[in-house]
Amino acid sequence: MRIVQDEDKTTIVATVTDFSESMGYCEHRVEYFLAGIKPPPKPEMIKGGEKHEEEEKYEEEHFEAVAITDEELSDIEKDIEFFRDKIYTRFLFEFDKNKIFLILIGRADKIYRSKGTLFIEDTKFTKNPEKYTDLFEPYEDQKLQILAYLNSVFTDAEGDESFNPVSWFSVPHKKKGWIIRIKDMNSKKTVKIFKGIQSKEIENLLIENIRRFCSLILGIVEPQHHNNFKKCLSCRFNKECKDCLEN
Ligand code: SF4
Repeated sequence: MRIVQDEDKTTIVATVTDFSESMGYCEHRVEYFLAGIKPPPKPEMIKGGEKHEEEEKYEEEHFEAVAITDEELSDIEKDIEFFRDKIYTRFLFEFDKNKIFLILIGRADKIYRSKGTLFIEDTKFTKNPEKYTDLFEPYEDQKLQILAYLNSVFTDAEGDESFNPVSWFSVPHKKKGWIIRIKDMNSKKTVKIFKGIQSKEIENLLIENIRRFCSLILGIVEPQHHNNFKKCLSCRFNKECKDCLEN
């Protein structure tokens, strides 16, 4: 995460993960993301990343990437799907009119349009599927992450070019929907699916969290502690965090 100061404007550049992990897990993480502190990922994160790569490789080997034409993109009735390794998300927010901007960069697992609804689908691997048995809603960080993707524009440009608004595009749609698929790390079987259509209420929830995220980064408000010992125990920042309840 970084703050870029130009003559007449300030731009906060962060990842979707910086946002969802701060606002959906612990606000104290903002300080560490800003300082560029990145503790090593937990073994479950590494394994989850490997499973994602396996799925991407499988898709590459078994499905042919077909370019989507401008006509197909603009035809709202046309079902389309983007190839996951060729598209990035850019969420833009004007925090303070013409002065402070936020850009969240990311890459969603699946982006497609079906029957006029724009869908983002994300897969999470867990080594502990039982913890989802009684859950009817995804965890807050999972929800905020997918909502940030869903309300982004997209780019298929690489490197610096992907930050150039000229390369950004929207996917015309009537509604927005999201799917979070939870898979067992070992068997790769789906154990739970959370899904929903974006309502005004959910959109407001995202914007409220985005505003608070910006306020935390700019030091306008102080982080609130969740006071949950278990969260600190399993947090990858707990070795260096001065607010850790475990220390
Ligand atoms: S150790 Fe606890 S307080 Fe510190 S960032 Fe992690 S969850 Fe937050």
